Amino acid sequence: MRGLLIGRFQPFHNGHSYVIREVLKENEEIIIGIGSAQISHTLENPFTAGERVMMVSKSLYENGIKKNYYIIPIPDVNNNSLWVPHVRSLTPPFNKVYSGNTLVKRLFGEVGVKVETPPMYNREEYSGTMIRKRILNDEPWVDFVPRAVVDVINEVSGVSRLKDLAKSDRA
Ligand code: NAD
Repeated sequence: MRGLLIGRFQPFHNGHSYVIREVLKENEEIIIGIGSAQISHTLENPFTAGERVMMVSKSLYENGIKKNYYIIPIPDVNNNSLWVPHVRSLTPPFNKVYSGNTLVKRLFGEVGVKVETPPMYNREEYSGTMIRKRILNDEPWVDFVPRAVVDVINEVSGVSRLKDLAKSDRA
C-alpha cells in the first residue's frame, strides 16, 4: 500500500512529522506532495518548493525514515476539477489520500479515491500559521518544528526573509 499526503509545509512542523509516521504505520510507502510548489516569498508561503523538499527530507532522515518515501513538488492549477488528474500525472500510483484539508478531501472523494483525515496533533502549537507568526514576532518557535527545519530556515535566512516580507506587505 502507498499513501499520499499533500501539504504546503510552510514550514514543515511536528504535526506533519507525526502524520507521516502514522501514515507509514499502515502503508509500506508514502508520497509527500509539496503543494503550491510555484509559490514562495509571500507571508503565507515564504519558502520555495526546493527549500520545503530539504525540510521534509532532512526531517525524515532525522526520524530514521530513509527510503520508503517520494517527495514530489506539485504546482497549483487554476481549475479544481483538473487538480486530481494533475496530481496523478506527477506522482507514483497511490491507494489512499491522507488530508485534513476540506477541498483536498472533496476533490479526491468526488473521483472515488479513498480519503482519511488523520487526527490533529497539538494543533494550537503545530500550525504553519502560528509558527510563521511566532517567527515574525520573535516568539519561541524552534520546539514546534524538527531540528532539521530550524537548520534549513537558518541556512536560507528564513527569519529575515519573513520579516522583510512583512515590511513589504505593509508598504
Ligand atoms: P498544510 O501544510 O496546511 O497541511 C498539510 C496536512 O497536514 C493537512 O492534511 C493537515 O490536515 C495536516 N496537519 C497540519 N497540522 C497538523 C497537526 N498539528 N496535526 C496533524 N495534522 C496536521 O497544507 P494544505 O493547505 O492542506 O495543502 C493543500 C495543498 O493542496 C495546497 O498547496 C493547495 O494549494 C493544494 N490544492 C491545490 C488545488 C489546485 O491547484 N486547484 C486544489 C486543492 C488543493
